[in-house]
Amino acid sequence: MSEEITVGALWRRWRDELARHGVPTPTLDAKLLVGHGLGYDVLQLMLHERDLVSISLAESLAQTLKRRVSGESVARIMGQREFYGLAFDLSAATLEPRPDTELVVDLALAALPDGGAVLDLGTGSGCIPISILSNRPDAQGVATDINPGALEVAERNAERHGVLGRLTLKQGDWFGALRGSASEEERFHLILSNPPYISSAVVETLSAEVKDFDPRLALDGGPDGLAPYRIIAAEAGSWLRPGGEVMVEIGYDQSEAVAALFAAAGFAKVMVHKDLSGLDRVVSA
Ligand code: GLN
Repeated sequence: MSEEITVGALWRRWRDELARHGVPTPTLDAKLLVGHGLGYDVLQLMLHERDLVSISLAESLAQTLKRRVSGESVARIMGQREFYGLAFDLSAATLEPRPDTELVVDLALAALPDGGAVLDLGTGSGCIPISILSNRPDAQGVATDINPGALEVAERNAERHGVLGRLTLKQGDWFGALRGSASEEERFHLILSNPPYISSAVVETLSAEVKDFDPRLALDGGPDGLAPYRIIAAEAGSWLRPGGEVMVEIGYDQSEAVAALFAAAGFAKVMVHKDLSGLDRVVSA
């Protein structure tokens, strides 16, 4: 009696297990996770359907199945996620990049002048500035995060995508990471951020996939979810070049409040931009 199972039978078994636990995309998730364990992408997995793996290997791979059943996302289990066409490493210190955030990158690429400089506050995995710099070889940037663990991941991602030479990483709290005041040349054409913007009480009500696995620091925007926007609106002016712009991601119901904060801080041309689902997603000023 051989203690073996085919690759095809294994992922189908995982698919059934994921479906039984109500995971919404059991087939894709099972293929991705079995493939991840064996070092294959989904296409390669299909080509190895008839290969045999030992039961003991199958059992050790099943750790990732358990993690998925407990609510962790496939991207987190695999340690990376695609954003703006690039693969980004993740860790427990970084928010999983979301497709909504690609709108910030689209708007920034459209607004950035030749040779422009961007600042990304609370960069996490670095997905925003790295996507911009990899599309614009003329541009440079600074990325900050309060969490040194996030900056390590951002540095790895910047290196992987060949932009580390043009991206400076700085640890600190919002503009505090920059320290001192900027000379003219050190200011930015664009200041960007996808800050934590969920109110503390609402964080508790989020799905397990978000609440238990995305870092709290990356989600919690204080009692009303607007604390980071107050800081950015108050301080961005001293770090922007003349005619520069701030672009921040927002929650779908925060456009009025955030637009008002920027208007009150003296910004002109305050605009709300909608995402592909038609929801308010970015405020620029
Ligand atoms: N800027 C990073 C992202 O968009 C991190 C954002 C955050 O942690 N709130 O994914």
